[in-house]
Amino acid sequence: MSNEFDVIIVGGGAAGIGAARRLAASGMGVILLEASSRLGGRAFTQDFGGYPLDLGCEWLHSGDRNAWVGIAEASGFTVDRSDPPWTKAHPGIVQDEDGQEAAWEAYGAWEKRLRMVAADSDRASDAMEPGGAWNAYVRAIAGFMSGMGPEEISATDYLAYDDASTGKNWNLPLGYGTLVAASLPPSTSLRLATPVERIDLTADGVAISTRAGTVRAGAAILTVSTAVLAGDAIRLPAGVDPWREAAASLPLGRNEKVFLEIGRDAAFEPDAHAYGNLRDPRSASYSIRPNGWPIIEAFLGGDGARILEEEGPAAGFAYVSAQLVALFGSDVSAAIRPLAATSWSRIQAIGGAYSCALPGRSDARARLARPFEERLFFAGEATHPFDFTTAHGAHDSGQRAADEAMAALADRYRLGRRDKLAAAGA
Ligand SMILES: Cc1cc2nc3c(=O)[nH]c(=O)nc-3n(C[C@H](O)[C@H](O)[C@H](O)COP(=O)(O)OP(=O)(O)OC[C@H]3O[C@@H](n4cnc5c(N)ncnc54)[C@H](O)[C@@H]3O)c2cc1C
Repeated sequence: MSNEFDVIIVGGGAAGIGAARRLAASGMGVILLEASSRLGGRAFTQDFGGYPLDLGCEWLHSGDRNAWVGIAEASGFTVDRSDPPWTKAHPGIVQDEDGQEAAWEAYGAWEKRLRMVAADSDRASDAMEPGGAWNAYVRAIAGFMSGMGPEEISATDYLAYDDASTGKNWNLPLGYGTLVAASLPPSTSLRLATPVERIDLTADGVAISTRAGTVRAGAAILTVSTAVLAGDAIRLPAGVDPWREAAASLPLGRNEKVFLEIGRDAAFEPDAHAYGNLRDPRSASYSIRPNGWPIIEAFLGGDGARILEEEGPAAGFAYVSAQLVALFGSDVSAAIRPLAATSWSRIQAIGGAYSCALPGRSDARARLARPFEERLFFAGEATHPFDFTTAHGAHDSGQRAADEAMAALADRYRLGRRDKLAAAGA
């Protein structure tokens, strides 16, 4: 049976859309199959009364070398290059400034010790100072970065991201999710609400089964999260177990957001930041009135994000409201009201926030990124060697997988043509 498409892309997040853009530019016939009823995956902007809030990715990290910046500007999106709110502490809050300095220094010292640990156990918790006064703070920051506790973080992996980051964090006032979802090339066939259930290799490519039928192509690019890949939602061809094992070595951490709306009369400064509690490992980091909006965004990681996962949104609202009252005074409780809370870890087609290599397993990213039988290609944030956990890393991984798929197809089409010419006695 002949193939209907050159390439099938499984998953319409930043990686799938990055792959589609590269394939479309080369004139390939492409179909994208997406489980959810929208594009974007972990890039998702939702409009709340005129405020486009990013429930997933929000910051154009390493903005000066982030492919989405060029895509945004070519599509007429404004890129805000000003300093992010976490560089501007909100004035007048009850905060221990000496403590903040000491906590930050303790985090820096932990990061330095990670280099020694990377060459030894590779377990990031081994770089914690036993009984250290600021260990709760180190845990919270590691939770923001990786979504995991230091016991489950590979020091090598953590440092690979840090060393590559350029420290430029830019923003899209219309939303990162808006940009990603708007960036699928029109030539790509799209099927939303079409979860892939099974992938088989065929003599000349792949056959991908969904409830709506089977699609055939010369190659497939699989961009689903490591939680999906390591789970049992998609039946993969025999022989893919090493890829599933690599995905299991890169579990998704926990990161969630809680948004609150501010009443008109509350005296919050725009574009400022507050840190909840230096001594609480679950503490949230607060963006106060981003873009001047009457919104407070709380970002939780690791132990903090588990409050939402295990106890639900009401517990998340209660936790962050109590921290805000402690910071701003009891009057604020009448001025804030719950607006939205995420639940990335509970969404079946995602299963968490972003990937984190387990101690001793940082090589799993390269193992996951290898092609399988020149037919199945792997992309997604987890496959990037150093920009993992990000939307630009996901985009670039999609482009890398698209190049690999096109090279494999070019070889196969060339061989096919040679066989046909030989059969014709040419
Ligand atoms: C709270 C939070 C904050 C973040 N903040 C930032 C940030 O500020 N900056 C940044 O760069 N990154 C950030 N990230 C990370 C970033 O969002 C992700 O790294 C990136 O979007 C992942 O893209 P992806 O294409 O690899 O995966 P995904 O976005 O997960 O895309 C995979 C797609 O596959 C689909 N799928 C799953 N199963 C199937 C199936 N069986 N069949 C078909 N389709 C399927 C899914 O629905 C999904 O759309 C954040 C993430 C979270 C959760």
